[in-house]
Amino acid sequence: MDLFSCLSPFVFCSFASGSSGNCYYVGRQDEGLLVDVGISARQVKEKLLHQDLSLDNIKAILITHDHIDHVSGLEMLLKNTAIPIYAHPDCLQGLAEGNATKRLDHALFHEIEPAQPFELLGIRIEPFPVMHDGRGAMGYFFDCEGHTLTIATDIGMLDKVVKEQLRRAENLVVEANYDVEMLEHGSYPYILKQRIAGPFGHLSNVESARFLAEIYHPGIKNILLCHLSENNNTPERAMQCFYEQFRKRHVHLDVNTTICPLPRHKSTGFVYL
Ligand SMILES: [Zn+2]
Ligand SMILES: [Zn+2]
Repeated sequence: MDLFSCLSPFVFCSFASGSSGNCYYVGRQDEGLLVDVGISARQVKEKLLHQDLSLDNIKAILITHDHIDHVSGLEMLLKNTAIPIYAHPDCLQGLAEGNATKRLDHALFHEIEPAQPFELLGIRIEPFPVMHDGRGAMGYFFDCEGHTLTIATDIGMLDKVVKEQLRRAENLVVEANYDVEMLEHGSYPYILKQRIAGPFGHLSNVESARFLAEIYHPGIKNILLCHLSENNNTPERAMQCFYEQFRKRHVHLDVNTTICPLPRHKSTGFVYL
């Protein structure tokens, strides 16, 4: 048995995460999907190359919603390449109308809906609705040969559906957008603060940490904190909050569980799920 045969066939790689741009690679080592393209086409290509991949290895692009930090690089990336785009019909409508995305070829658009699973590259994908003020906002649950991952980014609140989708996966990419105090005392206008903290905004460190502490079990392999705010959070604050909530509930992290914030601009390299 060689060393690599014991690694999972299912990999995740964060290319960028946060309000300045989001882009994830999900799939196998030699072919996969992108979830969101909120960074430049040049950056996507560079980061793919770093993993020994090119656009030829990308079989589809899934979009979570039409906010600019999730779609800004899409048009340029697909200028000379035809990669199918999968998103909620409302999100596709948003792309068709958005300034940065309105020149996309509509022939690439594929409508997907919550609770209607589909399969790509032998990976089962289940979209689910999330409460957020982007059009057709969805999260994704993936199952690749029994290895599972839930991506839940840009969520105003943890409703029953999102909780369910986080409970069932052994790898979680979950939003920890803001530190409550930093947002409260920060320089954002009141209306923007209200939006971020509201039910269609973003998830705070403590909301995320409390729930994770509640559902944690040693079978969870990775808890990757995503979409950290540049102005209202720090990786240290987010981690501190998680440790605090876990301690409060007397939850001990298993040695096989990794918990860490995703870097804003740097690639994580392959995480074997
Ligand atoms: Zn958003
Ligand atoms: Zn966002």
